[in-house]
This record gives sequence, structure tokens and C-alpha cells, in this order.
Amino acid sequence: MKVIVVGSSHGGFEAVREILADRPDAEIQWYEKGDFLSFLSCGMQLYLEGIVKNVNDVSYATPEGMRAQGVSVFTETEVTAVDAKQHSVYIVDHKNGQKREEQYDKLILSPGATPATLPVAGNDLKNIYAMRGRDWAIKLKERTVDPEINNVVVIGAGYIGIEAAETFAKAGKHVTVVDMLPRLLAKYLDEELTDIVTKEMEKHDIKAAPGQAIKKFVGKDGHVTQVITDQATYPADLVIVATGIKPNTKWLSGIVDLDDHGMIKVDDQQRTSADDIYAVGDATLVKFAPTNGTKSPIALATNARRQGRIAGKNAVGNAAKTPLVSGSSALSVFKYKFASTGIKEGTAAQFNLETKSTLVTDTFRPSFVTDENGNDKVWFKLTYDPQTTRILGAQILSTQDVTQNINTISLAIQAKLTLSDLAYADFFFQPGFDRPWNIMNVGAQQALRDLE
Ligand code: FAD
Repeated sequence: MKVIVVGSSHGGFEAVREILADRPDAEIQWYEKGDFLSFLSCGMQLYLEGIVKNVNDVSYATPEGMRAQGVSVFTETEVTAVDAKQHSVYIVDHKNGQKREEQYDKLILSPGATPATLPVAGNDLKNIYAMRGRDWAIKLKERTVDPEINNVVVIGAGYIGIEAAETFAKAGKHVTVVDMLPRLLAKYLDEELTDIVTKEMEKHDIKAAPGQAIKKFVGKDGHVTQVITDQATYPADLVIVATGIKPNTKWLSGIVDLDDHGMIKVDDQQRTSADDIYAVGDATLVKFAPTNGTKSPIALATNARRQGRIAGKNAVGNAAKTPLVSGSSALSVFKYKFASTGIKEGTAAQFNLETKSTLVTDTFRPSFVTDENGNDKVWFKLTYDPQTTRILGAQILSTQDVTQNINTISLAIQAKLTLSDLAYADFFFQPGFDRPWNIMNVGAQQALRDLE
């Protein structure tokens, strides 16, 4: 069996790994149009802040390592078209311009996405950057130590924009974060928690500029100097745009079914509309567990990995289904660490759902524990259906790392658990780690009281 995998980031990497594990005898050809195999943007902040020293370490695979396992690896080589009837792909080797055709038995597509650009005047000025992939990582790293860069404007206050803002603030730059939404991180946390995180960012010389739309970029000698919104003008030596992504799927139009936004349509087994072609990752939608399977764009490595594995299994004949997911993610912002999953009070309206939320706070461990590890406050907010009491989402924040609780809530959402299930669920207690009632128990118990 010959399998061709397109794209070498999370989705492609996992598909290759799965095929190697399940069918070591399969012939695998792996194509990446960039000059580096398997760069993982998730590790970009660690590189920019100097925790990972070498940009090439932000990867799980090397061409040599994969070739040693029998995979034919092609970098700087783009798959430009597919003939689904003939089961063949057209390939351009950008190193020498040579073109060729390859047959496949199974084709797995993980072409991912590219950062969206803002359709405003001046968007072609120099020093307007994005934050995704190895090339941008290298350019951004240079700017962190560039004495000419004093004012940085980050556009987009999702987790990528906040990572960019923190990185440049730590590098000693004055940072402004602009977003159209009324709060930073509005899709991840509700107001009580974004207030805490925003104050923490302001303490580190990051100015929050939410509720504003970008009107244009102004420049001098071809370089950006100002960002103009509908409310203010911000000086800018560097702009980082993190306002969303566009799937890399133009070349697949007419080959596999795409939706109106160019996302590849897939079924539970990651099959596209064309025989023997699978697709995974940021160029596809996932089924959202809190709404019992609404198709949603949730661009996370976790989803790409899961889908890559399921596609790999199905491609080699081991039937597997992608489960519904809750969109769980975590981030640290200076001294705070937070995680969230599913629906929040602030995002419920977009799902047309009636929800109720309960916020509880507690100390990390019993109050008598006063050792050097600290015993700081934990905020936990649970969102649920007030009629059925089904758990629909949660957020957690602390200076302590309590983020893993959100994985439990993600599973609770997937398993359709209710407040009563969570209120008295069996969670361990040990004063070095937590309280006799875990904060999730406390949140669900309070929610049941709120409903009385
Ligand atoms: P991509 O990562 O977009 O990769 C697609 C690859 O395919 C690219 O290398 C591209 O060059 C190649 N390609 C495209 N078309 C072709 C073609 N025709 N021929 C050959 N090659 C092609 N997610 C998390 O879960 N946790 C995190 O902490 C996290 N942090 C992130 C931080 C940043 C700064 C960014 C930008 C993203 C982060 N993500 C995180 C999201 C995560 O990186 C993406 O969800 C994931 O990379 C998607 O993987 P993918 O395989 O779909 O596509």
C-alpha cells in the first residue's frame, strides 16, 4: 500500500506516525512545501523567549529520523493538484523546479492554514508580521532584540496575540493589544477572569485596547509607523497580526468538497468527498461536544493530532471514529495560568443556547498550608444547561497550575455529565496538592444551590 501525506505539522506528522505503527510495510511519501519538516508553532513563544535556544528544536521529527524509519520525506516540495479519479498527485520540487506525478492508494491532506491579513490600507508596509511557522519565528526573534523596535502593536487578543504581547513586553517593548471584541481573550474567559489577566498585563506595560476596529496602517519610507483604529492612533515600529487563519485549500477546489470558508468537508472517519482522500487539521472542522456535534473551526494542535491518528488508522483499514471535542486550551500570562473548555457565559449566545454559570473561588490548598510553594487563590467558573444541568463548559485561573482540572471538565462534557455527577465525584485530597473538596466539586455544588 502506498500512502501520500501532505503537510508536515501536527496533522501530517501524526498521520505518518500512525501508519508507521499500524502498517510498517506501507510505502509512505511525506510532502512539505516549506524548507523545514514539522515545525510546531505551539513552541514558538518558548523559542522567542529564549527557553528553547534553537529554532530547529521546535519540532518532533527530522528528515533523517523519519527516513531511518522508511518514510520518503520531501521538503520544499509542494503538492499542487490531485487527480482523484486517477489516484495521482502533481508535485513541484521547489529546489530545482522539477514537476512530476505520483500515484497513491490513499492520500492524507493536512495543508493547515495561513494567518489572515487585514484588508485595510497600508497592510503591505514593512514590519507587519504574523506569528505562525518557522519563518515568522525567526523574523520575530530578530525583532525582540532590535533596538529600533520600541512600540509593538498586536492585533488580535486570542491566545496567539497574547503570547506575542507577553513575549515583546518581556523583551522590554511597549506593547498595545487591539481587538474588536470588548475584552482581551474574550473567547476563552469570562469578564471576571479577563479582568484579572488584563490587570496583570497592564502591570507589565501592555496596554489593552479592546472594542476597536482597525481602519488603516500608516507608514514612513515603506515601514509601518502607526496603527489607526476607529477610536485611536497607536505608534508602531512593529505590528503583529493575529486575527485568525485561512485554510490552505484553494488548490483543492473542485477536487474535494469545501465549505463556504474553504474548509475541507470530512466525515467522522476524516474521509473527504473523494474516494481514498482523507483530510485533517486546521483546514477541517471538528464536531463540538457541548452542542452535540455542531461543526466548528477549532484550530488546535490537539484536534489535528487526534484527526491525523484517526485518518491514518482508516487509511490502512483499521476503522476508527473521531470523537466530539470541547475545544480545551490553556495559557500562561505572566504569573497567571488559565485553561478553559466548552461554552462560556460570554460565548453562549453564539450557540443560541440558554446557559447559566457559577463562579467559585477557593485557596489552592487548605488555609493552614503556608509553605514556600504558596497557597494562592483559584477561580473556577462552570457553565451548564439550567434545565437539564448538563455541564457545558468551564474556566479556571490561578497563579498555581490548576489547569489540568479543565481536562476533567472536557471529559465531563463529552460524557454528558450533569452537575450532580460532578458535585460528588470522587477526586483525591492531599493537603500538599488540593482541598478536601476539589474546586470542581465546589463549583458544581454551588451551581446546584444557585438553581434551587
Ligand atoms: P499547519 O500547522 O498549518 O501545517 C500545515 C503544513 O502543511 C505547513 O507546514 C505547510 O507548509 C504544509 N503545506 C500546506 N499545503 C501544502 C502543499 N500543498 N504541499 C506540501 N505542503 C503543504 N495548538 C494547541 O493545541 N496548543 C497550543 O499551545 C498551540 N499554540 C499555538 C501557538 C501559535 C503561535 C500558533 C500559530 C498555533 C498554535 N496552536 C496551538 C495551533 C496549532 O499550531 C495548529 O492547530 C496546528 O499547527 C495545525 O496543524 P495542521 O497540520 O493542520 O496545519
